[in-house]
Amino acid sequence: MTHILETRQLNKRFGGLHVTGNVDFALDAGEMHCLIGPNGAGKSTFFRLILGEHLPDSGQILFQDQDITRAKPFQRIRQGISVKFQVPGIFKELSVRQNLVIALQHHVDPRLLAEEIDRLLEFLNLSHAQAQLAGNLSHGQKQWLEIGMAIGLKPRLLLLDEPTAGMTPDETHATGEMLKQLNAEGMTLLAVEHDMAFVRQIAQRVTVLHLGKVFAQGSIDQITADPRVAKIYLGEVD
Ligand code: ADP
Ligand code: MG
Repeated sequence: MTHILETRQLNKRFGGLHVTGNVDFALDAGEMHCLIGPNGAGKSTFFRLILGEHLPDSGQILFQDQDITRAKPFQRIRQGISVKFQVPGIFKELSVRQNLVIALQHHVDPRLLAEEIDRLLEFLNLSHAQAQLAGNLSHGQKQWLEIGMAIGLKPRLLLLDEPTAGMTPDETHATGEMLKQLNAEGMTLLAVEHDMAFVRQIAQRVTVLHLGKVFAQGSIDQITADPRVAKIYLGEVD
């Protein structure tokens, strides 16, 4: 297996709108890939198709060579796909540590849970804040907690929808280093991003989605040098 994830001619329509149009896409096992494209390009919808929150009208999704096109979301999680969405899904009235307990308790041997959470807290730079209410964290820290809740499941593939949205430049950079470390440990990552400095920091390969289709693919240097890509952001290509 070289491709951990593959979509074949994936289609999704909402009413008359073709939100995902014949998307052929493949992720190499172990790569760190960024998905970019203007608002409304279909990036979040593509994630929801991979996660099983939407079912496609046609086409196929393969994960580790298994057809998961019709699999339920929990089956995909069990097979090793995890996600961090743009809007944090943390419990604000619980402590940082309790949030991680809730996320991990059904996935980790209870005898190892405390140790596992200590390790995660350290990785997330949140050890000092573990007793704080999650609602009192800074915006960036909330995003890290959410990343922790997603990686606590030890996924093979982690999807991140705009992981640095609203972060300060320092938080953004720290997030990039975190993701690079996860990738170095063997996790495959696919991130939707708008911040091109961040894409440059982390991505080994970039795919541009436009009007639900793969518009361009390549290294960050190839993508930023492509005049066709610049034009879609100016609304000059459709
Ligand atoms: P992106 O994440 O790239 O900004 P989205 O995948 O959120 O794009 O949306 C792509 C298009 O699909 C948009 O035009 C959006 O309005 C439409 N869309 C997304 N989800 C739905 C839905 N559940 N029902 C109807 N239209 C939707
Ligand atoms: Mg989106």
